[in-house]
Amino acid sequence: MAVRPFNFSAGPAAMPAEVLAQAADEMLDWPDASGQRSGMGVMEMSHRGREFGEILARAQSDFRSLMAVPEHFHILFMQGGGAAQNAIVPLNLCGPSAHIRATSDFVVTGGWSAKSLLEAGKYGKAHEAARSTAFHDIPDPSSWRLSDGAAYVHLCTNETIHGVEFHSLPDLAGMGCNAPLVIDCSSHIASRPVDWTRVGLAYAGAQKNLGPAGLTLVVVREDLLDRALPACPSVFHYRELARNDSMVNTPPTFGIYMAGLVFQWLLRQGGLAAIEQRNIAKAQALYDAIDTSALFYNPVNPACRSRMNVPFFLRAPARTDAFLASAADAGLLQLKGHKSLGGLRASLYNAMPMEGVQTLISLMREFERTQA
Ligand SMILES: *Cc1c(COP(=O)(O)O)cnc(C)c1O
Repeated sequence: MAVRPFNFSAGPAAMPAEVLAQAADEMLDWPDASGQRSGMGVMEMSHRGREFGEILARAQSDFRSLMAVPEHFHILFMQGGGAAQNAIVPLNLCGPSAHIRATSDFVVTGGWSAKSLLEAGKYGKAHEAARSTAFHDIPDPSSWRLSDGAAYVHLCTNETIHGVEFHSLPDLAGMGCNAPLVIDCSSHIASRPVDWTRVGLAYAGAQKNLGPAGLTLVVVREDLLDRALPACPSVFHYRELARNDSMVNTPPTFGIYMAGLVFQWLLRQGGLAAIEQRNIAKAQALYDAIDTSALFYNPVNPACRSRMNVPFFLRAPARTDAFLASAADAGLLQLKGHKSLGGLRASLYNAMPMEGVQTLISLMREFERTQA
């Protein structure tokens, strides 16, 4: 396999090269588990046929075992990205009208949870239960102003733009709150194990850590399937999706296939406990390099720094473009920061090897020594 540059994109993001090679190999003629050739590429198959049925079933069961998803949760393959779930969640959880649970609570810790709060306000009352200062930390759960009888409590457990991550999930029940916890885990799904006892619903767009854009994973607890508002579209209704194996309409078949190959790759890597250890080591190495540098800095409270997305900045901001140019020359791609923050951002998703992080660190040291 040809050597490729290290790609630090925040999303759509780098895929494991092994997975891309397998997909290339199977592009014209997909073989089933027994090696029998189908004569078709995956994107040319009927979603109702035997072949795609096999792909979907395998993706679903591999995801369940990889993520240790309990049986009383449904795994749904949807479209619309993480952003569509900002509307689809309240459409599904803020009814039924007979006993309206119209208020939902939001803990705002960055750009993505701020968006979720705004969108949910179109479908019910969206209440800001807490907001962090400058999106550099996470307000202590004891300070959250949770509503009585809320339909759900929403967190973005990894803020992709601001680089803030919940390293553990809050125990809402232990805080006297009966509402289900909804997490937007788009940018750290499958980077570490999940404590499902604390979760009612989790959603994630695939293009950060799982596969191509166009696929969204939703994991939803059985008892939350029947709370939809009457206006909830059938193709976005969790109960309908659960009942029809995610095939109320044509699902994003190629995305499901690619994510399925990524699940198999993750299982071969030793599963999430092993992946988490690697992710901790990669993030630790980069944050150490930033913190010991006189040129680069990261403003996030070390207690809640993201392992996946590391925004960082030069104390001489005018040198940022020169650094990006040196990085591209050294085979380090897509390190430009989000447009709302500027600076730099290194995304260290599962497909990024430690070698890529070490190469970045070497370049930072070299740049600081010679060009700052
Ligand atoms: C990328 C991202 C989204 C939005 O994903 P789209 O697929 O563009 O809708 C939402 N939430 C988080 C945390 C993200 O990282």
